[in-house]
Amino acid sequence: MSTVLVTGGTGYIASHAVVTLIEQGFTPVLFDNLSNSKSLVVDRIEAITGVRPRFVEGDLSNIGLLESVFAEFKIDSVIHFAGLKAVGESVREAQRYYANNVAGTLALTQVMAAADCYSLVFSSSATVYGDPETVPITEDMPLSATNPYGRSKLMVEQILSDLAVSNENWRIALLRYFNPVGAHESGLIGEDPNGIPNNLLPYIAQVAVGKLECLSVFGGDYQTVDGTGVRDYIHVVDLVEAHVKALSALAPEHGCQAYNLGTGQGYSVLEVIKAFEQASGVEIPYKIVERRAGDIRASYASPENTASKLGWRARYDLAAMMRDHWCWQQRNPQGYEA
Ligand code: NAD
Ligand code: UDP
Repeated sequence: MSTVLVTGGTGYIASHAVVTLIEQGFTPVLFDNLSNSKSLVVDRIEAITGVRPRFVEGDLSNIGLLESVFAEFKIDSVIHFAGLKAVGESVREAQRYYANNVAGTLALTQVMAAADCYSLVFSSSATVYGDPETVPITEDMPLSATNPYGRSKLMVEQILSDLAVSNENWRIALLRYFNPVGAHESGLIGEDPNGIPNNLLPYIAQVAVGKLECLSVFGGDYQTVDGTGVRDYIHVVDLVEAHVKALSALAPEHGCQAYNLGTGQGYSVLEVIKAFEQASGVEIPYKIVERRAGDIRASYASPENTASKLGWRARYDLAAMMRDHWCWQQRNPQGYEA
């Protein structure tokens, strides 16, 4: 059976991917430096699947360790989730972001090539579309970035695309995530951000359990259905299923290709609040404040290219995303710590 190295393996999205990989008969090997996750996640994955995946604690910059992982586990392919992802922090700590996200990926691909492993699925982001001129967004639209986090994703996409040109053995899928939310239906794994959440759903969920008082809605004067920003929220379980489809699509001559991972449906911030209130039965106090610097009006995917090439479409609707996100938060009000 196929052995998959999952970098960033104990993180939010990767932990869900590991569950899906195990359920579909793959052997995942988790690699993570625990800079933004807890090793307890491995216990939770075991509780869900009945299988305890191998976990190696380490940093992508540790080339010797990575080499030994490839040698010991005979890795067939890699899903590369490891990365730093906070936009504001990336502005303040640009060097750390480029070192971690760009140099880290370069180190990984060097070790892969030396181990004759050329199949790679990369966690990119819809942020590489910058402020899109039109929606829905198709993969061929112009790319740009407005902060070091976004630029690190764009740089890695360009590097991987150049690698595929330089050596035809490479088979690379660039998965451009829209807005991943929700959690595994068991409520055992989910998103557990450090400090005050930057993203909408974890913020709402922490207001719902009383950890935070009131949600600030960033901007009420966008040209949208109700003035608030519109995004394409996608259930994390749908998202990770697309990774397994992408792995299977990495046939010879795949080269380097980009795929949008979104539902194709945009929702405003107020629509999300309402859906969360309906799913949880908890009222979410909010106030509309100034726009957040760097935010865009609307972003949602055209999922058609991914549907035709990977045979994948999102299944879960907004209500299911809210239900599962709430289930996780309710069962783990303090995240993994408690
Ligand atoms: P996460 O922080 O929960 O997971 C990332 C994991 O990578 C963490 O466990 C962290 O400890 C680990 N890590 C970071 N740098 C490392 C390094 N140098 N060596 C080893 N491990 C390292 O984040 P997530 O939300 O699960 O995101 C996973 C990937 O998806 C990231 O690359 C992120 O940029 C990308 N992405 C996330 C979103 C989102 O909204 N969550 C959207 C688009 C793209
Ligand atoms: N948002 C908000 N309050 C928050 C966090 C986010 O109003 O505390 C809005 C934000 O302006 C955007 C949407 O929610 O319109 C999604 O933001 P998030 O940071 O989750 O994702 P991204 O901006 O990266 O798409």
